[in-house]
Amino acid sequence: MQLAKRVETITPSSTLAITAKAGELKAQGYDVIGLGAGQPDFNTPDYIIDAAMEAVKAGHTKYTPTAGLPELKEAIIGKLKRDQGFTYDKSQIIVGNGAKHVLYLLFQALLNPGDEVIIPAPFWVSYPEQVKLAGGVPVEITTTELNHFKISVEDLEGATTSRTKALILNSPSNPTGMIYSKEELEPIADYCLKHDILIISDEIYEKLVYNGNQFYSIAQLSENVKAQTVVINGVSKSHSMTGWRIGYAAADAQLVKAMTNVASHSTSNPASVSQYATIAAYNGPQESIEKMRQAFEKRLNEVYPRLTALPGVTCVKPQGAFYLFPNIQKTSDACGFSQVTDWVAALLDEEKVAVVPGAGFGMPEYIRLSYATSLENLNHALDRIEHFITNHM
Ligand code: PLP
Repeated sequence: MQLAKRVETITPSSTLAITAKAGELKAQGYDVIGLGAGQPDFNTPDYIIDAAMEAVKAGHTKYTPTAGLPELKEAIIGKLKRDQGFTYDKSQIIVGNGAKHVLYLLFQALLNPGDEVIIPAPFWVSYPEQVKLAGGVPVEITTTELNHFKISVEDLEGATTSRTKALILNSPSNPTGMIYSKEELEPIADYCLKHDILIISDEIYEKLVYNGNQFYSIAQLSENVKAQTVVINGVSKSHSMTGWRIGYAAADAQLVKAMTNVASHSTSNPASVSQYATIAAYNGPQESIEKMRQAFEKRLNEVYPRLTALPGVTCVKPQGAFYLFPNIQKTSDACGFSQVTDWVAALLDEEKVAVVPGAGFGMPEYIRLSYATSLENLNHALDRIEHFITNHM
């Protein structure tokens, strides 16, 4: 069958691929430890589940407005006011089936063929693919460990052309866990305003920040910056609600309207029950979020020293999210592998530990480990990685 050219240019998600491979081995009876997960390992808090059950029983099982229930938009506006001091109107909010879907709608609504989107690498695997699916061109800026994987204005100058339409910022970052400070964001925002570049600020890991680090949204810098920014967020990571599929964008009303039109002819509204659950998530008690955050922080602080003690491994200590992104090129070389992807495949094969190769994130010398699993699992996984390295060196 002759498939569309557009699907030939995209690669399947490497994070989902490794999770699928690990799942297959598990099904065959192997004791696999998966460190590929992109989702919190906690249950959705009870008060959210209760609200969802009540909504279903009350008959809230019908279509809703495409861009989300007005009550949900109010709850999101309340959250943005509470956490960032933002003022948004309901016409500036669109709720979709997860932040991933909202980003998809955004690129569909924004890009003409050949329009360029600047994406700092390492990046979340779906950004370049979604840009390509919309006919756009991803322009990567490769960052370095030395600069804590952050971009500078000089980097932006080197990447900007007359076709540059947007810049994606993801702080806290998947996969590095780095957070941009207010001071680091200021010159980036100034540059984007000057060159009329739309800022896409993916803030999905906002609530997962550790060891005294602070999240700051670029849109908080000024009203002008806010007007030029699309804030992307959702409840997947903050409330352990990945399966409910709710994310949102807060942006210019004209852009939101165009995104809503695209959604109206593709997905329609996100599941009504999930929308009711999310109203509870944002309006209800937030203590359970803090408990999850503390658990992640404890894991990070325990696992990080063990990881960086492995021969040849370097890793900038993450400030947020729930991933570690070590450079293992030297280790992989010393183990006799020609590529890090081969090292990753052999680790799964011999020790049954699944990690994600960095290539999908635009950094082939690295791997991503998720600590969205128990400390016991993490310690066992590190024992096995240690054993694997010793065996091969
Ligand atoms: N953005 C980033 C950086 C992510 O890591 C993810 C999920 O892994 C998403 C967006 C999408 O989240 P969801 O579609 O579950 O809201």
